[in-house]
Order: sequence, then C-alpha cells, then structure tokens
Amino acid sequence: MSRLLVIGCGGVAQVAIQKCAQNKEVFTEMCLASRTVSKCDALKEKLEKQGYPVKITTATVNADDVKDLVKLIKDYKPDAVLNVALPYQDLTIMDACLECKVDYIDTANYEPEDTDEPVWRAAYEKRCKEKGFTAYFDYSYQWEYMDKFKEAGITGLLGTGFDPGVTSVFTAYAKKHYFDRIDTIDILDCNGGDHGYAFATNFNPEINLREVSANGSYWEDGHWVETKPMEIKREYDFPQVGMKDMYLLHHEEIEALGKNFPEVKRIRFFMTFGQSYLDHMRCLEDVGMLSTTPIKFEGKDIVPIQFLKALLPDPASLGPRTVGKTNIGCIFKGVKDGKEKTIYIYNVCDHQECYKELGSQAISYTTGVPAMIGTALVLTGKWKQPGVYTTDEFDPDPYMELLNEYGLPWVVDEAPKLVD
Ligand code: NDP
Repeated sequence: MSRLLVIGCGGVAQVAIQKCAQNKEVFTEMCLASRTVSKCDALKEKLEKQGYPVKITTATVNADDVKDLVKLIKDYKPDAVLNVALPYQDLTIMDACLECKVDYIDTANYEPEDTDEPVWRAAYEKRCKEKGFTAYFDYSYQWEYMDKFKEAGITGLLGTGFDPGVTSVFTAYAKKHYFDRIDTIDILDCNGGDHGYAFATNFNPEINLREVSANGSYWEDGHWVETKPMEIKREYDFPQVGMKDMYLLHHEEIEALGKNFPEVKRIRFFMTFGQSYLDHMRCLEDVGMLSTTPIKFEGKDIVPIQFLKALLPDPASLGPRTVGKTNIGCIFKGVKDGKEKTIYIYNVCDHQECYKELGSQAISYTTGVPAMIGTALVLTGKWKQPGVYTTDEFDPDPYMELLNEYGLPWVVDEAPKLVD
C-alpha cells in the first residue's frame, strides 16, 4: 500500500507509470503531475480502461518552483516522489521533498538549464580545474543533500534508470557474487534500433545532445582522463545486435562508481552511434544549433537547442516506427579466489516488444522499468536509508530479481569478448 507522486509525463515517465500500475501490491495510489496535465489525463484514462486497480489522480505542477511543489506534496501527502521530469528540476524537487520530509527518487543527476548563469558558471569552472572533467553535470550538487536528508530521515535514491541505474546495480552484483576485486569496468550502451528518420534522439533531445556533443572522459588510477568528443572509437560485436561502432563518452555513473569502488583501476563508458546521427550532430553544432545561450531573433530571446527540440520528433512518438534491439551492460575484469576473471552482464531489449506491451520504444522502456523498481524498493523499505545514495550502494539482489520479473531479463556471460 503506498501513495506515489510522479513528476513529469514524457517518454520515460509513461513507462515508469505503466510499470507501477503492473506492480499492484506496491503501488496502490498515484498522482501524475506535470507541466502539461493533458498527458497525465490521457495516461490515467488508458490505465483505467485497462482495468488496473491503482487509484490515479492528476495535477499541474511547475517543478521549477519549490513553493508549487511543496503545495502539491502537502495536498497529496505521498509516501515518495518519483522525479521523471528533467535533470534541471532535480534540486527544486529535492528541496520540496526535504521541506515535506518525503522520500525522493530520480533517474539522472542535476544539470542546470542555464549554463551561463554566473554563480553556477564560476563553481563549474572551479570544478573543471579541480576534478579534470568538463561535463555540465556532476553529483556534487545532490551529494550535498546527504546530511540534510539524514537529519530529515528521508531517502534520496539517485539515478535509477538503466545507465545510470542498472549498470551500477550490475557492478554491485558482480562485486557481491563474482569478484573479490574488480580491476576494470567497461559500460557498453548499444542501441541497434532504427526509427527510419535521418536524425532523431531517443530521449529528451536537449539532454541527449548536450551529453553526446561534450568531451569524453574516463576514470583511471583515481583521476579523470578527458578526451575530445568522439575521439575514442571502438567496434564491438553485441550479442543479438551485431557489429557496431561505439564511442567513449563521459557518463555520470563513472563518478559514483569511482567513489564507491575505489579499488577499480579504470572505468569507461561507450555508446553506439550511426554515421547519420554523428553527421547531423556535427552540422548542427557547427551552425550553433546545439547552443544553450539565448540569441535574439525578431525581437525574441530564443535558445537554439530548445528551438531544435521543437523541430525534432518527440522521442515518445518513436515507438511505432522503431525496430531492432538495445543491448546495455558492463564488462568486468578482476580477481576471484586468486584467479583472473572476466564477466559481461547485459540486457537485450526489443523496441517492438516494448511498443506492443506499453506503446513505447526501448530507450524509454529500459529507463522507466528501473525507475519503477528503485521506487518500489524504497517504498517497501528494502532500499530505505536516510541520506542520498546511488543504486550501487544497496543490496543488488532484490533489484536484479525485479529486472527479470518486469521485462528486463539479464544474462551473465563468463567468456565475453573484451574491448581493447
Ligand atoms: P521528456 O522530455 O520526454 O519528458 C520530460 C517531462 O517532464 C515532460 O512531461 C515535461 O513536460 C516534464 N517537465 C519538464 N519541465 C517541467 C517542469 N518545469 N515542471 C513540470 N514538468 C516538467 O524526457 P524523457 O522522458 O526522455 O526523460 C526524463 C528523464 O529521464 C530525464 O531526466 C532524462 O535525463 C532521464 N533519462 C535517464 C536515462 C537513464 O538511463 N538513467 C535514460 C534516458 C533518460 P511537458 O510535457 O510539458 O514537456
């Protein structure tokens, strides 16, 4: 029995909410709140027609406004808040949860919408120098809530999507069951899906393009090594997908894994991209369309990347057109009982199967299912611990069981091909 407030009703949220409805024992009441309430109303109607017993209400909320959030939380009185809006809203939603003493869960770490804001910019430039990576996002803003969440007796579960989220749980599982010591981790994110467009992004275009066009980096011997965007390229033959080009990116779980598994000597993250995606992205970047700095156009302030988002297909609309599979997982090298060992834990997910089940493509599906699982573990008390934590910091076993139960079965390959 629980009351959950879900904030956001985009591609990922739609999957998370439908999966919560499937998990009838845990999720008995839900409030779906977002900027565009019509999306929440449509999903409520769909779930009611399908006969799910969960009691659903909807609300409009501006998640950039702490007061608006606090009012909604005080009115609805949820046991937890699941943030599946955008990373821009992480801190406002955390502040509201703190004020109302309610558990908080999200799928992506904080990044600011306005990267030119002077106070944030000064802190960012200092962090770039001190830590040695230039991504706009890092965990420091949310880790700062550790003591405040502890004092309030509430849990903050950060980054329970697939990557971050499941990849971090795979790491905890590998350490618990397969290794005495992990030496290297390669996280491989392959989308072998084809949506038929020359260019589209599989999740929020603004967040996706910011991440992919940034410098790459990896963790080695206790520090960051930064690369130019797309500088490191490898080929990998992904089970059930085939041979793909993949590129080294900076990714947020590396930061948490580097901190929580200090023995690991190297952590890298690779993502596959097709040539058409890369060519379009390069052209758009060259003409300034990926910029987050507003320009004046016919008397109005326009942020180029937000204008681009309005032109691109809505990721939530890619479901019916996307065919093929994703394969996301981690290759671990290390030592068990004095012997060297390598394993690859991965999940394969089929875009069309996801569409048939929930009306979504696999990127939203592979993020929304773990969002439900993390929330369920907090609500049932299995992952409840005052403070703020990433998914690698809890017992991985119940999470791994729920992945199998709710549509993301995983495989452990004990003789995988390695990435050089
Ligand atoms: P979408 O853009 O599809 O959805 C975002 C939703 O948030 C929309 O419903 C939007 O409302 C709502 N929203 C945005 N701003 C506000 C606001 N100020 N107040 C209230 N609601 C707001 O994004 P996705 O579903 O693709 O992504 C959701 C989250 O999942 C992101 O944080 C993303 O980074 C994360 N993610 C994590 C992954 C992982 O593996 N860990 C992978 C993919 C995504 P409106 O409908 O009005 O636009």
